[in-house]
Amino acid sequence: MPCSCQWKGKEDKMKNVKYGKCVRCGKTYEAVPNLTNCSCGGILDIVYDYDYIKESLTKEKLSKREERSMWRYRELLPVEEKTPAPPLRVGWSPLYEAPRLAGELGIAKLYVKDDGLNPTASLKDRASSMAVAKAGEAGAKVIACSSTGNAASSLAGNAAAAGLSTYIFVPSRAPKGKVAQLMTFGATVVSVQGSYEDTFELSKQAIDKWGWYNRNAAINPYLSEGKKTVGLEIMEQLGWKVPDYIAISVGDGCTIAGLWKGLKDLYAIGFIDRLPRLISAQASGCCPLNRAIETGEDWYPMEENTLADSIAVGVPRNADKALMAIRESNGLTVNVSDEEIMAAQKLLGSSCGVFGEPAGVTGTAGLKKLCEQGKIPADATVVSVVTGNGLKDVENAIRSCGEPISIPGDMDRLMQAFAERGIAVS
Ligand SMILES: *Cc1c(COP(=O)(O)O)cnc(C)c1O
Ligand SMILES: [Zn+2]
Repeated sequence: MPCSCQWKGKEDKMKNVKYGKCVRCGKTYEAVPNLTNCSCGGILDIVYDYDYIKESLTKEKLSKREERSMWRYRELLPVEEKTPAPPLRVGWSPLYEAPRLAGELGIAKLYVKDDGLNPTASLKDRASSMAVAKAGEAGAKVIACSSTGNAASSLAGNAAAAGLSTYIFVPSRAPKGKVAQLMTFGATVVSVQGSYEDTFELSKQAIDKWGWYNRNAAINPYLSEGKKTVGLEIMEQLGWKVPDYIAISVGDGCTIAGLWKGLKDLYAIGFIDRLPRLISAQASGCCPLNRAIETGEDWYPMEENTLADSIAVGVPRNADKALMAIRESNGLTVNVSDEEIMAAQKLLGSSCGVFGEPAGVTGTAGLKKLCEQGKIPADATVVSVVTGNGLKDVENAIRSCGEPISIPGDMDRLMQAFAERGIAVS
């Protein structure tokens, strides 16, 4: 019987993938399922055979495909042909046209990609679905990660659906909604009394000790390949018409790097004829990557001082890939205060009906700020990615958007309350 725990040999190799290549020193590695970092400490990038992909994937073929998930782009994903798509339906989230918000911001066309509608309610599901697929190829039964919350809950959910068990490390500040998800999905959860950096270090030591499959975006190069599907979808949903800007929030940096990789893939196979500029939005209280771009210096650690917990990453582990993505795209950086994030949460909700968590709306907050500063031309077409759902963190949503009118069930009191608040009932 063939052993399922070993790399299975040539016949199962991925035909679309060449190798993993270190973004720091350029060393290449065979793309085995449990590929990790380069010996120099750099993160690997998965390199594809675009000539092969061009022959196997056309726009027409894609348009006839019924699969409505991130797995509709299999030719561009680093998995073996026989690897099944994991059970939860991840990706193909809606791209809404947002005319009222566009008017509010003073730009010609705005689209909102609501990735909070993924099964565990964040964009992280794209990486976790990939991690579950690759863990399957590696024959692993246990997956582990450290996370500010969303990577954790998405891994726990996607792994539960596939029958894998999970060990999860989160900082004790993680919002209740995310912890509730973890407990519901049956993960073994360790709440670390410390920063995200402390959490990451503990998970690393535990993973080294017990040999679990590693879903840390700092280490596993396949995760940004899952996240790149958000870029693939945006372009297909726009009918391959390239927007001028795509705004997204940035913490560790894996997400913006993934988005950029997807766009570059499409450019490489001739599906799009130019590339958009990225808008990297971070919280003013934790913006080590944007600071590096703005000063032209190397990045260095920063405190984790923002209510946008998912992007409170003081030591970004995907810094190399993220900085490359922002620079290559001739991107813009923007840092927003917690107040600006809260205002964007309310604006997005009331103008689009889209409910994002604080980190989820930080891209929109950044876009709004750039518009106010006159840095986005009025005729621009922009996509703003909402990366996580507001139901994960209702306490902050109530803080942003206020409390409801609270009265006894009495019509006189209702009229009085409306009058007091100057609400003209029509
Ligand atoms: C993780 C996350 C991000 C940022 O992704 P990074 O890869 O850490 O840069 C943004 N928004 C939400 C909701 C997230 O969970
Ligand atoms: Zn290297």
